[in-house]
Amino acid sequence: MKVFVDELNKYIDKEVTFSGFVDAIRDKKWVMFVILKDHTGRVQMTIEKSDENNAKLLGIMSNVTKDSTVLVTCKVVANEAVKLGGIELIPTNIEVTSKASELPFDYNNLEGVNIDTRLDYRWLDIRNDRNTLVRLVESTMQQGMREYLYKEGFVEIHSPKLIGTASESGSEVFEVKYFDRSAYLAQSPQFYKQMALAAGLDRVFEVGPVFRAENSNTNRHATEFTGFDLEFAHISSYEDVMSVEEDLLIAGLTKVKEVYGDRIKEVFGIDVVVPTKPFPRMDLQDLYRELNKLYGYTIPEHDIGDTNAETEKLIYKYAMEKYNSEFMFVTGYAATKRPFYHMRKDGALQGYDLIWRGVEITSGAQREHRYEELAKNAQEKGLTKDVEFYLQFFKYGCPPHGGFGIGLDRITMLLLGLPNLKETQFLFRGPNRLNP
Ligand code: ATP
Repeated sequence: MKVFVDELNKYIDKEVTFSGFVDAIRDKKWVMFVILKDHTGRVQMTIEKSDENNAKLLGIMSNVTKDSTVLVTCKVVANEAVKLGGIELIPTNIEVTSKASELPFDYNNLEGVNIDTRLDYRWLDIRNDRNTLVRLVESTMQQGMREYLYKEGFVEIHSPKLIGTASESGSEVFEVKYFDRSAYLAQSPQFYKQMALAAGLDRVFEVGPVFRAENSNTNRHATEFTGFDLEFAHISSYEDVMSVEEDLLIAGLTKVKEVYGDRIKEVFGIDVVVPTKPFPRMDLQDLYRELNKLYGYTIPEHDIGDTNAETEKLIYKYAMEKYNSEFMFVTGYAATKRPFYHMRKDGALQGYDLIWRGVEITSGAQREHRYEELAKNAQEKGLTKDVEFYLQFFKYGCPPHGGFGIGLDRITMLLLGLPNLKETQFLFRGPNRLNP
């Protein structure tokens, strides 16, 4: 395995092979400085011109273009005069492993580069330090969350994304040709997470693609995104679900702050705030009242029983002003606005949404695990044949349970204050974007 830039300090005075991109070449009278980079940072390679043995290396490097890749056999030397980490590489051999053609734009200076051009060449766009950091932060956030889940005994599952029926909730699904019939792309792993609990796995999670055929061009909707979903059994209320979600987010944000807190502050000007438990929570009706009293806001008729983008922004304002919290759980949604599998008790929905920095990041709930009730709820929503297979999961014993789904891309967007999912997702998928 190659040595990363951020590991080189462990190899002082040793010989290593280092490979990476050529970031810059500074050809001075007496010396050639080559800046090499990988996703952990940059390092200087120094080639003295006075040393006759270097003639071949200088010849190689004078033909190398920026963004080419090289494999270098070199000695790692500590040198305080070197601004880049006080380390330089003194090469004895250089192999050009890939020569770069002229780039279509300067990814170090993206101002003025059209977002579509950037997405067309997303692999170049991500070479930009800031965009590389987005990837690292998202990975680290997931690492923190996964570590928490493994510690708590969750089992990671992978459910199919090709499914036979189009059902579940109001979301639009993509229909795909499947030999001589149609299949549908999964709009969430919901049914299968629950099946895993009926299968006797007590706690499960899945991180995977979620497809939504929503022809909407908001900054927070994509047609394919990554769902971070979990479900666990033997709960007594959706409060248990909220509590796990608090711990999960605290674990993820703690990890991000630890590893990248300073870099995020430097590059994005954003403080990573690790929240404390419990996050504030409020009933929807009380919220409507407060938002009206404080900000003169009235929820439009068609959104009664739910939140919308505007309410979510105000909820953030309110949560910050009243609780100094970036997060707010909202409960008391109307059953008509939520999927049939959310449990109701005396008509009250046993679920919640979590709003972070003004955007919904999760829907969670205690699920209906009683076959008769579930069948009735499905029927009320007009779902019959399509959910027959799902209802079977609850016929042969299934413990009380609940869970939630977090939009991972949305979390990354909010965490780093990015303007939209186009700049957040590794590869954005929207109504007008299927390539690369
Ligand atoms: P919204 O009301 O914002 O459309 P939703 O109610 O459809 O979201 P859920 O079905 O509950 O969302 O999905 C769980 C989570 O997945 C959401 O809280 C959100 O973080 C994320 N999410 C939902 N739809 C999208 C999308 N089209 N693109 C990116 N993330 C999404």
